[in-house]
Amino acid sequence: MSGGDKLDFEIRPNPAAVSAADRAALLANPGFGRVFTDHMVTIRYAEGKGWYDARVEARAPIPMDPAAAVLHYAQEIFEGLKAYRTTDGAVTMFRPEANAARFIASAGRMAMPELPAETFVESLRQLVEIDREWIPDGPDASLYLRPFMFASEVFLGVRPANEYLYCVIASPAGAYFTGGVKPITVWVSPDYTRAAPGGTGAAKCGGNYATSLVAQAEAIEAGCDQVVFLDAVERRFVDELGGMNVFFVYDDDTLVTPPLTGTILPGITRDAILTLAAESGLRTQERPVSFADWQADAASGRLREVFACGTAAVITPIGRVKFPDGEFLVGGGEPGRTTNALRQQLVAIQRGEAEDRHGWVRQ
Ligand code: PMP
Repeated sequence: MSGGDKLDFEIRPNPAAVSAADRAALLANPGFGRVFTDHMVTIRYAEGKGWYDARVEARAPIPMDPAAAVLHYAQEIFEGLKAYRTTDGAVTMFRPEANAARFIASAGRMAMPELPAETFVESLRQLVEIDREWIPDGPDASLYLRPFMFASEVFLGVRPANEYLYCVIASPAGAYFTGGVKPITVWVSPDYTRAAPGGTGAAKCGGNYATSLVAQAEAIEAGCDQVVFLDAVERRFVDELGGMNVFFVYDDDTLVTPPLTGTILPGITRDAILTLAAESGLRTQERPVSFADWQADAASGRLREVFACGTAAVITPIGRVKFPDGEFLVGGGEPGRTTNALRQQLVAIQRGEAEDRHGWVRQ
């Protein structure tokens, strides 16, 4: 493909697709990330040739040479978003263009080629269309879409690869919270940081998650659900969680979230919340919040609520904060009214149950 030419997808239906009965059994309790649909999308890229061989085909292992560049230098990026079945039976996605734009930005940071946004969105549509029977029913269920791209060139030199494979797989997901929304406990990592200025914090690259795992393991060890990373320079300011952005709600109805200075992922949920909050009369601020202020303001009661947000759980209240020297509660450890209201508002838009004034929902 060159210039603005449209890429045509060759569709090869899976001849060994899972039977309707087996699919129903898998969808009854899919959990997260272990059950996959019948198909995948693949598109190849070669320097000088551009994007080519766009296919929707049977999901299958990807043969890889042991010298494929990604296995050595980790040139890899990904995205994550959900497709929903609405109450009237339509299939929708939430802001796929925003994921496309972030995929392009991630590619730029990792010296990878840009997949045109329209090809990205079309690839999702193609997969959702052929695997639509895999979208679970149920108020909180969805089909999680995972687009990713990696350096497939067989070469051990350290330079941007000349060949890449883009791929999309899909995984049915059940309700994130079974039995109601529960506040989580977070661990503020004293030793590990996620991203330094000038680093890859704003890119959705696999390497960022590889480096977060030891800190997340420490969080679990400390009896917490998720790790919170502080800034890498002063170790004072809150950056984000291992896989979610963070918001602080103060008693004067101000909503604060750390600014996008290159060390945190620009979450699409974060962006939607800033918009919805401003519309519902809350004051919104993107500014640094220190861990010391988090603790002091929680103690004084000035800080009413804290929540994390991201595609997986939409909005998750943070009830308890642990760190090596102690722990404290926010809002008595209960989900707050602003957290609940924003969550309800956003979920209703995503589900097609509330007016979509921003054109976020796509068929
Ligand atoms: N931060 C990190 C590190 C993440 O992995 C995610 C999930 N993609 C988010 C924030 C939230 O982003 P989004 O709202 O786009 O899912």
